[in-house]
Amino acid sequence: MTQTAQNISVGTKTIQVSEIFGPTIQGEGALIGKPTVFVRTGGCDYRCSWCDSLYAVLPEHKAEWHAMDTRQIFAEVERLSGHAPLLVTLSGGNPAIQPLEGLIDLGHEHGYTFAIETQGSVAQPWFAKLDYLTLSPKPPSSKQVTRWERLDRSILYATNARHTHEIQINLKIVIFDEDDYAYARYVAERYPAIPMYLQAGNHTPPQQAEEIDVSGILQRMDWLIQRTIADRWYGATVLPQLHTLLWGNKRGV
Ligand code: SF4
Repeated sequence: MTQTAQNISVGTKTIQVSEIFGPTIQGEGALIGKPTVFVRTGGCDYRCSWCDSLYAVLPEHKAEWHAMDTRQIFAEVERLSGHAPLLVTLSGGNPAIQPLEGLIDLGHEHGYTFAIETQGSVAQPWFAKLDYLTLSPKPPSSKQVTRWERLDRSILYATNARHTHEIQINLKIVIFDEDDYAYARYVAERYPAIPMYLQAGNHTPPQQAEEIDVSGILQRMDWLIQRTIADRWYGATVLPQLHTLLWGNKRGV
């Protein structure tokens, strides 16, 4: 993507960063298997019952986070990637609560592309600058409440950008049970034009870093595949969380 000098905004705003790591592969969703550097921000407006990244969510972990500006983050991305313009995945926590617009602008200047993973609870106009927007609204098992108007607005910001550049919008929902499945069906009906990725949830507590219940995850995935096929829901793509199968709940891989 090319950007004009006028719309580059490399500010000195402070961004809370939990960790920057990679290159590794994206383990889930539409970009599964793609090499990427992750920038995981600190802080989240949700408290999902099964969150596996509480170290990037809870204020009690704040002392482990780093307050960084755009240039410091980008310097680390460049160091890790060896200056190869890879995909950068903005994750969290909820990265949408951080001022990431300048990082996207700076990275684009150097040929990097940007994906964000967010639940869609905070809609930002700068979503329009992304190359990939993955929205992962949280189903009932998370014990969170979806604010639909915010999800609508997140999609609108990205959709409006399509007249200036290619931006791929995807939905991704973690499924644990029938209620989650019904929620995913509703989301797909609400946004029929957006590709939907479903993934079987990992029920192993995050403190069990390596001993996850792989057979339990695969059984749930099998159920999910049978469920979508029986419903003739052919618009859904069912995927595992590849990183979980490979590396369990380990951080930084
Ligand atoms: S939205 Fe994501 S990071 Fe935030 S609490 Fe839920 S699972 Fe954890």
